[in-house]
Amino acid sequence: MSTKYIFVTGGVTSSLGKGILIASLAKLLQARGFSVTIQKLDPYLNVDPGTLNPYEHGECYVTDDGAETDLDLGHYERFLNKPTSQANNVTTGRIYQSVINKERKGDYLGKTVQIIPHITDEIKRNIKLLGRKGRYDFVLTEIGGTVGDMESLPYIEAVRQLKWELGKQAMVIHLTLVPFLNASGELKTKPTQHSVKSLLENGVQPDILVLRTEHELNEAIRKKVALFCNVDVEAVVQSIDVPTIYEVPLKMKEEKLDVTVLKKFGIPVGAEPELNAWKSFLNKYKNPKHKISIGLVGKYVELPDAYKSIVESFVHAGAVNECAVELKFIHSEEITHRNASQMLEGLNGILIAPGFGHRGIKGKIEAARFAREKDIPFLGICLGMQIAVVEFARNVLNYQGADSTEMNEVTQYPVIDLMEEQKGITNMGGTMRLGAFVCKIKKGTHLYKAYKKETIKERHRHRYEFNDKYIKDFENAGMKPVGINPETGLVEAVELENHKWFVGVQYHPEYSSTVLKPSPLFAAFIQACI
Ligand code: GLN
Repeated sequence: MSTKYIFVTGGVTSSLGKGILIASLAKLLQARGFSVTIQKLDPYLNVDPGTLNPYEHGECYVTDDGAETDLDLGHYERFLNKPTSQANNVTTGRIYQSVINKERKGDYLGKTVQIIPHITDEIKRNIKLLGRKGRYDFVLTEIGGTVGDMESLPYIEAVRQLKWELGKQAMVIHLTLVPFLNASGELKTKPTQHSVKSLLENGVQPDILVLRTEHELNEAIRKKVALFCNVDVEAVVQSIDVPTIYEVPLKMKEEKLDVTVLKKFGIPVGAEPELNAWKSFLNKYKNPKHKISIGLVGKYVELPDAYKSIVESFVHAGAVNECAVELKFIHSEEITHRNASQMLEGLNGILIAPGFGHRGIKGKIEAARFAREKDIPFLGICLGMQIAVVEFARNVLNYQGADSTEMNEVTQYPVIDLMEEQKGITNMGGTMRLGAFVCKIKKGTHLYKAYKKETIKERHRHRYEFNDKYIKDFENAGMKPVGINPETGLVEAVELENHKWFVGVQYHPEYSSTVLKPSPLFAAFIQACI
């Protein structure tokens, strides 16, 4: 079968959940035996979200191949259980960068370089790249932003051209909102009509409309939308609010979204999608036998999207353990030595989140100390591990003023220091230690018990590292390096002796946790908390 292209655009407002919708449709197609991949096109000028503050854009997700990407790629991997790569996330910045590089090389042979056709060609090239050599039956492309945004125009134009070129091999699904007006007690379709009109002005007729709603849509509403927007009634799909995003594939199946897509492409519908493992996950998630509460100590607590992959990892690993995990977001800036026991009281476990910069560091150190001294299960991720190391140096080894050189360049005890290869780097974008690296685990450790194997591969995103000059001092005092990169000798994980469960990892286990393959480390952490 030749590769089919499905585009998902959004209308009316942002945050309707295009990422979850596209991941759910891809899941259903995958569960029918098709090979699928999902791509996100982001209309901003940053080359990637790696330089964006979490306040701007939530979490920065990292792929195996070391791309810093939009957090929607995390959803794609969590739903499909398949790794994504740099090719799955393209921004306007990257498109322009590549066009301008070609222009400087003289590749355009004296032509005037313009948005149409050069920018749109580059967009189309990036979309078709994924479908090359028939690698996938379906390439699903999410167009970031909302239709009508000036920034999105070149993407919508590229979709228009591709629909024309590919004919029946391409399809557009438009996601909109049907608001409920309390005063009149009615669901309103006008915003959807306007949104489709605005797509039509750009020459794109959607094939399927997915309507986000808080109340059931009746037949009359579906018919009305179909009539005004030139689509079949079967192609008007309801997407009602559900308690967990992992139910959306089942809701889309009820609405026969996958069937409608297959029929429109002229592909035989075949047997029902195989979703047994998915349903069993949901069943465990909804019927927990245990309940724990874990404190997530970070500085973006008012913004759960900043820790998206961590939050989802607890959902996956919680379900395996049939355990409901209540996450308490604790602002690291509010924790002091005096109030630590009061703020962290009653928690079954403490997690210190990844992060950059000075803000909130003192509170994180207090939280690590509290977990160490009170024998509370502890997981430190990236900066979280570095904090545990600094705390141990200061309070157990008595290295006064020990620090990471990220926080204090002239500390007498740089127990966390800039990696050698980082020292000459001045550019901030894409220059960290990024992507999946091998880690060798020492037997007989919590880490080994979690992964049940000696060699693992996990993803990284950092510049600083455990300073191996101090390894012996730490080991002798009870903080052991338990995971080492076999090529560079870098310390990737530490553990405390004589503690229930205290693990710090330099890598990010949360990036590789999926519904069907929860992170073994999160699962072990939850077990320790139970
Ligand atoms: N700021 C730290 C470093 O660059 C930790 C990064 C992180 O937590 N992702 O090494």
